[in-house]
Amino acid sequence: QQRVFSGVQPTGNLHLGNYLGAIKRFAELQDSFDCLYCVVDMHAITPDMRVWGGPAELSRNIREVTAAYLAAGIDPQKNIIFNQSQVSGHAELAWVFNCVARLGWLNRMTQFKEKAGKDRENASVGLYAYPNLMAADILLYHATHVPVGEDQKQHIELTRDIAQKFNNDFAESIASNGFGESYFPLTEPLIGGPAARVMSLRDGSKKMSKSDPSDLSRINLTDDADAVASKIRKAKTDPEPLPTELDGLKGRPEAENLVGIYAALSGASKEEVLESYGGGQFSTFKGALVELAVERLGPIGNEMKRLVADPGHIDAVLRDGAARARAIAEVTMAQVKDIVGFVR
Ligand code: ATP
Ligand code: MG
Repeated sequence: QQRVFSGVQPTGNLHLGNYLGAIKRFAELQDSFDCLYCVVDMHAITPDMRVWGGPAELSRNIREVTAAYLAAGIDPQKNIIFNQSQVSGHAELAWVFNCVARLGWLNRMTQFKEKAGKDRENASVGLYAYPNLMAADILLYHATHVPVGEDQKQHIELTRDIAQKFNNDFAESIASNGFGESYFPLTEPLIGGPAARVMSLRDGSKKMSKSDPSDLSRINLTDDADAVASKIRKAKTDPEPLPTELDGLKGRPEAENLVGIYAALSGASKEEVLESYGGGQFSTFKGALVELAVERLGPIGNEMKRLVADPGHIDAVLRDGAARARAIAEVTMAQVKDIVGFVR
């Protein structure tokens, strides 16, 4: 059975990178897989509260991510849309994985190093254990595929390591409980396309991020046409015209980023974008990109605003999704408890 699981954190400022790297692809996968799309609210509280903003903002952001899923065309009947905190199996399985994963594995995680910054002693234990919870999110549903942006590749590799170690450590018990040779699948990441890593509009060496203090660094899904236009016009570029071939983008991260965004929004390849705009001035290309971005993102932002104005509908979608997710999760947790030897 092929199953997709993925999630987005309700940490505010949903942006073009979240859309192109994740949410747009979630919608595309719904016809070929059995999909669960989660609002990972337990991950959202791992940074300092000054960063995630406190209870009222968290609730608002949970509804906003849900609205983005719906506005992007994810069907809540065909798929399961829910928030993580409402299915207790995530926390339960994460604890088992805390005892399977090794400190040395987590010490290699670059996201922790980036997010903890210099003041590592003051980072939360949750921020450190984040990848174990993410492995639990995925494996609770025996997901075989996880669509994510490039930045999450290392965490999916860790998920495979955890699945493998669990399968090895408990091999005898897995067999004697009737699950054969292995219990958890080795999940494949689905990373790709021209926008697997959308970069900041101000700095081509940093990924576009919700947590970047500069609003000019990202295009938010709820930005209006004027904001989108001014952010793209102000986006950092170099003085050279666009190259006509892909090779010419080497060493020009800002130019490559804008070409990648155009390609992903239009459904073309970067080569095709350069065939149309290569050799021309950046200002011409930026004008075309503004038009395309406003055309594609405008309806999504408007639909998100319409949906969050009616929290009753969003909350009902989440409640229904949680009940359906729970039905799957409870079976997994009963099996995991038998395998580990917890008496039920
Ligand atoms: P935060 O700064 O709070 O971590 P984020 O922008 O990284 O926010 P997440 O909620 O952590 O967003 O990630 C949700 C999904 O969006 C993940 O699949 C992630 O890989 C993807 N994603 C995030 N940023 C980008 C980006 N710049 N380009 C492509 N995909 C991205
Ligand atoms: Mg992130």
